[in-house]
Amino acid sequence: MALTIDDGYDPETVAGYVAFAAHTRIPITFSPNGAYQHVWNAHAHQLRPLIEAGQVQIGNHTYTHLDLLTRTDGQISADIERNEGWIQRTFGTTSRPWFRPPFGRHSARTDAVAGELGFTRILMWEGSFGDSRLLTPQVLLGEARKWLTGGRIVLGHANHPTVIHLFDQLLGLIHQRRLDPVTLDTMFGTSRAVG
Ligand SMILES: [Zn+2]
Repeated sequence: MALTIDDGYDPETVAGYVAFAAHTRIPITFSPNGAYQHVWNAHAHQLRPLIEAGQVQIGNHTYTHLDLLTRTDGQISADIERNEGWIQRTFGTTSRPWFRPPFGRHSARTDAVAGELGFTRILMWEGSFGDSRLLTPQVLLGEARKWLTGGRIVLGHANHPTVIHLFDQLLGLIHQRRLDPVTLDTMFGTSRAVG
């Protein structure tokens, strides 16, 4: 199971997820937007060693989080490159080859633009906590129970602090179901060296 956490506009939630990764050693792939760098940059020093150790991976989710289907090839390209530049400077790693389109909205055209920049893997998901919007803890936990199962790519968001009060329950589910959380690199055999 690969836990993938996107966006990151809430400081408390981002701090919570970073602490969760550091304390539990659970592999997580974060796909942050540079538009929220005022939130993420404060945690770069904590994330860098986890990234170096291969426990945490960073994917590209664009800088601005706009709908790609409404944008020109040049705009898409610039947005992806801008986020990659920020990720490299901040986290000391590339986000290649993984690209998660904002809202999951993409087409053959947008995939080709991303692919030309080395983002040859389009990252979708098979289950979601549904927490890009604000949920009650009960609803979020219900979604987690539904989707946290072996072999899945599960999507969550670092946007609302609801989830950080459920970390013990999520950890309980992972242990109880004997799940083996991994990064995308581990799941798909990709790497920073070869893309
Ligand atoms: Zn997003």
